[in-house]
Amino acid sequence: MMKGVAVSPGIGIGKAFLLIEPDIRINSSRIESECCEEELNRLNTAAEVSQEQLKAIYKKALERMGRKDAEIIKAHIMILEDPFFMDAIREKITSSQITAENALKQTIEEHVQMFKEIEDPYIRERAADISDVGMRFLKNLLGISFQNLDDIEEDIILVGYEITPSQMAMLDRKYIKGIVSETGGITSHTAIIARNMDIPAVLGVSGIMEVIKENQLIAIDGYKGIVEVDPDSDRRKELFDSLARKNAIRKKLSWLINAQTRTRDGKQVELLGNIGKPDEALEALQKGAEGIGLFRTEFLYMDRSTMPDEEEQFEAYKKAAAVMDGRPVIIRTLDIGGDKEIPYFNLPKEANPFLGWRAIRVCFEMKEMFKAQLRAILRAGAFGNVRLMYPMIATVDEVARANSILEEARQELRERGEAFDEQMKVGIMVEIPSAAITSDHIIKEVDFFSIGTNDLTQYTLAVDRMNEKVSSIYKKFSPSVLRLIKKVIDVSHNEGKVTAICGELAGNPEACLLLLGLGLDEFSMNASSIIKIRKIITSVDFRQAELISKRAMELEDAVQIEEYLLQELKNLGLDYLLEL
Ligand code: PEP
Ligand code: MG
Repeated sequence: MMKGVAVSPGIGIGKAFLLIEPDIRINSSRIESECCEEELNRLNTAAEVSQEQLKAIYKKALERMGRKDAEIIKAHIMILEDPFFMDAIREKITSSQITAENALKQTIEEHVQMFKEIEDPYIRERAADISDVGMRFLKNLLGISFQNLDDIEEDIILVGYEITPSQMAMLDRKYIKGIVSETGGITSHTAIIARNMDIPAVLGVSGIMEVIKENQLIAIDGYKGIVEVDPDSDRRKELFDSLARKNAIRKKLSWLINAQTRTRDGKQVELLGNIGKPDEALEALQKGAEGIGLFRTEFLYMDRSTMPDEEEQFEAYKKAAAVMDGRPVIIRTLDIGGDKEIPYFNLPKEANPFLGWRAIRVCFEMKEMFKAQLRAILRAGAFGNVRLMYPMIATVDEVARANSILEEARQELRERGEAFDEQMKVGIMVEIPSAAITSDHIIKEVDFFSIGTNDLTQYTLAVDRMNEKVSSIYKKFSPSVLRLIKKVIDVSHNEGKVTAICGELAGNPEACLLLLGLGLDEFSMNASSIIKIRKIITSVDFRQAELISKRAMELEDAVQIEEYLLQELKNLGLDYLLEL
């Protein structure tokens, strides 16, 4: 078993298809000056051939991966059109009197090195794009043929030292069961495309190319980042069975995708999706989301080297609102800091980033940036049912401060004569214990609460959610956290308002009956979990859930609570859903 970085979830089993790059040796001796002209001609021909190939790949990518991912191939074409890149090669041929392949290889290496030295991880990853284009160019120059990924017609796992975006574009989703490579991380384009194409992927598995042989059977687990070579027949059966069970359960439950979320005795709640990019809204809808309960907007600020402006954000929010077609879309303002670093913000290194300068605290000090985001959200409200949510609120005066900046943003839009939603609902994330404790004051200032259980648990128990060493103390069913959740729900109901949960707990089957019984109004989760949570809620009576939550709240220990809830799920014959 080998371990790498889990970058795209799912389980894949198939024969290894090894992407083997030829060992290209280049003659580095000098050439006669009269040969330079011929080398320049060879270079131009190879550049044209490479461009033609990339244009064909771009066309295919548009069909197979969609416009956004296909843009990556367009960027590759642009590298070949870049005079800075091409002139650097020509200059080497003529001034150093070397062959076209030698000049090209040197230029690629220089450019790759230049990118690798850049601190911003997103720009650094672009070195892979230069290598990808450069290798194609070099092969065309030397007349070396390409491995044909286009003709694959059996289930395979693609294994390579590096798998490039242009190789991804050649893949037929039907046969590619997984992707494994030695290089690449979570922000690499290969990872982004794999996630978008729904292909399980494990990257950064060092030494994999030495271990795996062509056609060997391998299994990958894109949830855990595990690669198993030659799983024996028992293990294979186990994996196939688990895959088949998952698929069968999903199929059986598929009728629930478009169903309402109502208990048998008629209590209705809403199941919403969490997204990070507007494109994910459609997927959430197709998986049964009744709206978007958390749009983590910081993802729009990631994977790039400058901040998105108001217009770009407006387009993104408007797109999600349009896809949701009148269903609610809750857009959370920027939540950076903690584990979410954005290099160009240059946030200072802090001893305790989770307790430091993050989220709304950054926005208060970067007021113009904050207002641009608020204006973009307000404007998107003219195109759908958009709501606004502030993260990391600790005190009631922070809500007042954020709301007064929001009023400035509204005023600026009025002066610009821009259409926007004057009545947009505004809520906060309750994810700091102080906000939960004083929720009776805060509720008067807002329209809704959404509990961020991921952070609420870490702050209530003083356990870093990222630190493996203390992960056993990070208990999702801690009675202290549950009491805060109950308090927040009760407080909102007393004011005739609603509470959602958008942390991971909302998609947890064991937590479902408890949260339902506590009166939670909205559950917002990774869209893949919606179906199982809807199955549970539609299978029980609200009265029953209330009794279960009452009993759970009386227990004094997190482990006891979890065991009790699991038992109740078993009693209802619903524990099979835990496998999904
Ligand atoms: C949370 O804290 O529960 C939450 C939903 O926000 P994030 O995971 O983005 O911090
Ligand atoms: Mg949070």
